[in-house]
Amino acid sequence: MQTYVVPELVAELAATGRPVVLFGAGDLGVLAHYALTRLGVRVTCFSDGRRVKHGQTLRGLEIRAPEHLAGLPSDTCVFLCGNYLATMTARLRGMGFTDLHDCVGLLDGFDFGGSDTGMDLVFIERKVALHKRECLKAKEAGDDLLILKYLDVVVTEACSMKCQDCSNLMQYYAKPRHSDLDLLESAVDRIMAAIDGIYEFRVLGGEPFVNTRVHRVITKLTGYEQVDKVVIYTNATIVPRGDNLECLKHDKVVVEITNYGRHSRKHDELLETLQANGVVHLTKIPVWTDSGRIKYVERSAAELDDMFRNCCVNDVLTLLNGKLYRCPFSANGTNLGAIPEDSADVVDLTGDRAGAELRADLQRLYGRSTHLRACAFCNGRDYRTPRIEPAIQVRRPLPLV
Ligand code: SF4
Ligand code: SF4
Repeated sequence: MQTYVVPELVAELAATGRPVVLFGAGDLGVLAHYALTRLGVRVTCFSDGRRVKHGQTLRGLEIRAPEHLAGLPSDTCVFLCGNYLATMTARLRGMGFTDLHDCVGLLDGFDFGGSDTGMDLVFIERKVALHKRECLKAKEAGDDLLILKYLDVVVTEACSMKCQDCSNLMQYYAKPRHSDLDLLESAVDRIMAAIDGIYEFRVLGGEPFVNTRVHRVITKLTGYEQVDKVVIYTNATIVPRGDNLECLKHDKVVVEITNYGRHSRKHDELLETLQANGVVHLTKIPVWTDSGRIKYVERSAAELDDMFRNCCVNDVLTLLNGKLYRCPFSANGTNLGAIPEDSADVVDLTGDRAGAELRADLQRLYGRSTHLRACAFCNGRDYRTPRIEPAIQVRRPLPLV
């Protein structure tokens, strides 16, 4: 059992009343506010780079634009409540703030039972664990460890819905195929032998339960010792039965349901089934950015690097048809033939690449900090990308231009 110990910093803040800013007005910010308030620390305000948030209030506090923090003393304590750590840190240091902290010490092990954050405990645990993983990444790179945060394992190109703006580009597949599971398993075996660990496998499609043999993949992935979680992403149109249900009864498995309202026509039945079978799950109403269109736009290298650095999926390695890509857009755009394949942006596992050679390839792909060829075809996925209505359905696949 984990015992929560109040970090020294928090005790000091409670005693002195030094100003405290939560930089990031999203889920982590809400969790940090709840924890600090419970620990007797008065938070001054939230701050966020997203324009849409400026001037709004969150948990009774103002959300200020970063430039409006200028009046605060330079010893203000700032908690980085997000995963754009390098960008956030550089920005705050540039403004003269020196007392910057991630939220790991504050949130890891904190008891959120009965909290008023509106988030369920499974969701909170994952949020905090992913933040911790992000914070550990820089240290691990220095120690020559190769621990991946996520690996998306695509089990099918097919989906039971056809969302016009799917950021995984399912709307462009005219003849979707299920993945070759022998190739998939061989590729994952070699990846796992070449790395030191992974926090989370994410099993997805399309809709993973469209592939009736998805249980084979889930069972394989939960069997690796070096993985913490195996998360299955579903749109709640199919209720798994038989082997596809049995494989979910594993302590590493979390089923993450995206609730698209009337489109998620089996939502309630799926919830009942998962509950009745003791499967850990959570359900979320999605917020979408306009990131589901393949369109080449002429941009400078500096603009593309900026897009890449700020992108919220720039470290979601994606395994699709035996090739490993740096993000889902790059994976599907290249797989569709709409984006030219660039050998620097992919690790090809369709052959017999393995061992030290493969580890070097993975380090190169996971460690890169400059844009992918795909970024030129993408609208970006960051706090500046416009929000859109989720899950507008189309009847036919969209043409690849
Ligand atoms: S966004 Fe829509 S089309 Fe894309 S995988 Fe999810 S449900 Fe399927
Ligand atoms: S192509 Fe670039 S900007 Fe688009 S999702 Fe991938 S990393 Fe992000």
